[in-house]
Amino acid sequence: MAKIAILGAGVSGLSLARFLVQGGVDASDIVLFEAGPVAGGLCRSKVVDGFTYDVAGGHILFSKDKPAMEWMKDEAGGPDAFDQRDRHTKIRFEDRWVHYPFENGIGDLPKEATFDCLSGYVKAWHERTMDGSEAPKTFGKWVQWRFGDGIAKHFMDPYNEKIWKRDLDFLTSDWVAGRVPDAPVDDVLRAGVGIRTEGYTHQSIFFYPKRGGFQGITDGMAHSLGASVRLNTPVQEVRQQGEGVTVNGEAFDLCVSTLTLTYAPDLFPDMPADVAEAMRTLEYNGLLSILVALDRPEHPDLSWIYLPHQSQGPANRVTYMSNYATLNAPEGKTSLMAEVTWPGGKPFPGESLEQEILDGFVNAGIMSRDEVLFTDRSTVNHAYVVFDELYHKRREVALGWLESVGVTPLGRFGRFEYDNSDQCVIKSRELAKSMLAKLGKG
Ligand SMILES: Cc1cc2nc3c(=O)[nH]c(=O)nc-3n(C[C@H](O)[C@H](O)[C@H](O)COP(=O)(O)OP(=O)(O)OC[C@H]3O[C@@H](n4cnc5c(N)ncnc54)[C@H](O)[C@@H]3O)c2cc1C
Repeated sequence: MAKIAILGAGVSGLSLARFLVQGGVDASDIVLFEAGPVAGGLCRSKVVDGFTYDVAGGHILFSKDKPAMEWMKDEAGGPDAFDQRDRHTKIRFEDRWVHYPFENGIGDLPKEATFDCLSGYVKAWHERTMDGSEAPKTFGKWVQWRFGDGIAKHFMDPYNEKIWKRDLDFLTSDWVAGRVPDAPVDDVLRAGVGIRTEGYTHQSIFFYPKRGGFQGITDGMAHSLGASVRLNTPVQEVRQQGEGVTVNGEAFDLCVSTLTLTYAPDLFPDMPADVAEAMRTLEYNGLLSILVALDRPEHPDLSWIYLPHQSQGPANRVTYMSNYATLNAPEGKTSLMAEVTWPGGKPFPGESLEQEILDGFVNAGIMSRDEVLFTDRSTVNHAYVVFDELYHKRREVALGWLESVGVTPLGRFGRFEYDNSDQCVIKSRELAKSMLAKLGKG
């Protein structure tokens, strides 16, 4: 039988292995190489003194692809293993709660800001529709073109500067197509005069494992795969050999890599210099996730909130972690989690960051200092793909070369794509289908 190597046991690698096994491949013919002591990658969670949080920002389970979502639930023990929650997200603007998406919430702003947003939106809409101006290629200019200068000034620019840590015109605008929904101008006018409009609602409910954090999902997959998952086994060297490849000297017929492209040059000794350069220079952001454990019995009914302003501290998003699942905090306690992005490859900041986060939370009026029990930090080097002008070119070189040496790239940073875990599962399902067909099991 064909021997299959899967590099990385995050949700992409694990779900690919599970689909292959469900399609008739013997689990003993699959090896998942995982550097970490546990599987799960960006879906991992951490439990500290009874408080559970996700290490790569707050994760929720939702998908437009129902079979993929149901499959993920089944892998984690079935629907009963999940809590279901309504999605309640808001933007904190000074001392107000603003409805999300922002253009549907502009009636919640102070009157001057509502006017700025309405006036800018109508002007931008008029220019787009009457002059037929084309969407600008850079993100900063696209924001002005699409939303107008009021929404740019009061929300989009400060929020995006916090999350991307770069001049917004360093980013391209093509990645937002289809990602940022186009609110009808009537809805924005209604919102401006105080008539509630909802905006997009596809995530109106979500699911979260009752136990173990989001990692409950990948734990389920890893458990079913048993000895196929080799933990604490970093991939150190991959070479093409005949029709197959060797991984750390071991021969395989097929190889799928979910490993981060920017690190791949260190693992493939035969990689040409121009390919290595393309991979190393792909842009990305890392992330710090800071749990804030609170001696507070209850939270408002919120899932997560956005903090666009500098006065609210360095966090761009705050997850109400203990609202995701009842068991995410001990009884009578609650928790928040701050997400702070960090430019890829730069050393993470020291502990003064935690103080800035707490000061920001107090300024934003979402907690008081005397409620804080402790904080806990987790970091991930790769969290967000940064879409700059050279992104497509570099990525094409990287993926093309891997394919040419018999390695199929898969996964969020294995392909440098902005995928959620459900999309990883969908892509693994597709890849498994074509691999099973090649193996005569289709
Ligand atoms: C801030 C943030 C919020 C998100 N929110 C959501 C959400 O709400 N819902 C959702 O569904 N998704 C969400 N996602 C996306 C989700 O986390 C990813 O899509 C998914 O986890 C990617 O899985 P992966 O297997 O492709 O990659 P990874 O999880 O990165 O897996 C790669 C694996 O390779 C291993 N590895 C690395 N180097 C080596 C080596 N040399 N040898 C062996 N192994 C190695 C790593 O340890 C890791 O386990 C979010 C992501 C972020 C960053």
